[in-house]
Amino acid sequence: MAKQSSNGDFNTSTKAPPPPSPLRSAKFFQANMRILVTGGAGFIGSHLVDRLMQNEKNEVIVADNYFTGSKDNLRKWIGHPRFELIRHDVTEPLLVEVDQIYHLACPASPIFYKYNPVKTTKTNVIGTLNMLGLAKRVGARILLTSTSEVYGDPLVHPQDESYWGNVNPIGVRSCYDEGKRVAETLMFDYHRQHGIEIRIARIFNTYGPRMNIDDGRVVSNFLAQAIRSEPLTVQAPGTQTRSFCYVSDMVEGLIRLMEGDNTGPINIGNPGEFTMLELAETVKELINPNVEIVMVENTPDDPRQRKPDITKAKEVLGWEPKIKLRDGLPLMEDDFRARLQVPR
Ligand code: NAD
Ligand code: UDP
Repeated sequence: MAKQSSNGDFNTSTKAPPPPSPLRSAKFFQANMRILVTGGAGFIGSHLVDRLMQNEKNEVIVADNYFTGSKDNLRKWIGHPRFELIRHDVTEPLLVEVDQIYHLACPASPIFYKYNPVKTTKTNVIGTLNMLGLAKRVGARILLTSTSEVYGDPLVHPQDESYWGNVNPIGVRSCYDEGKRVAETLMFDYHRQHGIEIRIARIFNTYGPRMNIDDGRVVSNFLAQAIRSEPLTVQAPGTQTRSFCYVSDMVEGLIRLMEGDNTGPINIGNPGEFTMLELAETVKELINPNVEIVMVENTPDDPRQRKPDITKAKEVLGWEPKIKLRDGLPLMEDDFRARLQVPR
């Protein structure tokens, strides 16, 4: 019998996984590993695709409905013989033959996930069910990008994976927070019930080039505001904290989790913790010392603090982030200036 903690932390499955698809060894199969990335046209997904495509033995299929992602993020791969892009909504079943599934499809910015909250829940629940059904049919390993939001407004600081969270089930963020919590539940139930090989990453705030401009997330907001010489809008009280991970560190963590033996959940994030006022001061200093910082009203249910405990990621994946916030922010500037058409 597999050893199980109260956190559902399985390292071996209770049932043998289903046999891999016979297509893996079919004579027309050209690549060693066929990988599906749902949400691959988005911010993190497109950087993950860039990394996966560097390996000539990978064939990458992206399925995305372009709600918050864009073909532009993948333009260098369109037409590449090892790359395929499918317009597809994960709330509908998908029939493809793959060995691994990175399941990212879901809007991550509060503005977008609150825009149609019922759809956000459907994407998390029905979308994850569909991807687990696919994983079961073809014997693929599946990784879910869950979130630090499963900890809600945490009463434990920093948050480690054994913490069950403090989440409002009926608030305006619940479609995302509770949606991801159900997605995690489905992952573990498919693992226990059907022997599916699962991996769960709990991602903390991530930043880098290709973030949607004006999507309301704090790093993209401050950077765009600084470049446009507009005031940086700190939402009150400004003492709330977040921990920001640069996207290349995030992608490295996700790939290590997929390739390793541990189901997770594992926190992937940068433990450097900043108040929003400190972040605004840092962006001002690095990007535009002439901008003003103003205090604006906040949105409901904003978590007061968030910082990952990454002990497990260090031990199990040998992973820790390399890029500090002060070094990462300037790496976004060229991309943002080009898209905003504001030269230095
Ligand atoms: P993003 O919004 O840039 O990317 C999400 C992608 O999913 C987009 O390309 C979007 O078009 C696509 N998508 C949304 N709904 C879909 C649907 N129903 N069917 C098919 N495609 C759909 O967000 P991101 O920052 O790249 O986040 C990627 C993943 O990481 C998400 O699962 C998110 O919850 C998780 N995550 C991100 C962060 C972060 O700070 N960026 C933090 C925690 C968790
Ligand atoms: N925030 C801010 N100014 C902005 C946008 C966001 O001060 O222009 C704050 C927001 O109140 C929250 C933090 O930044 O405390 C992170 O918000 P974001 O939407 O980026 O991510 P999440 O809340 O999902 O961590």
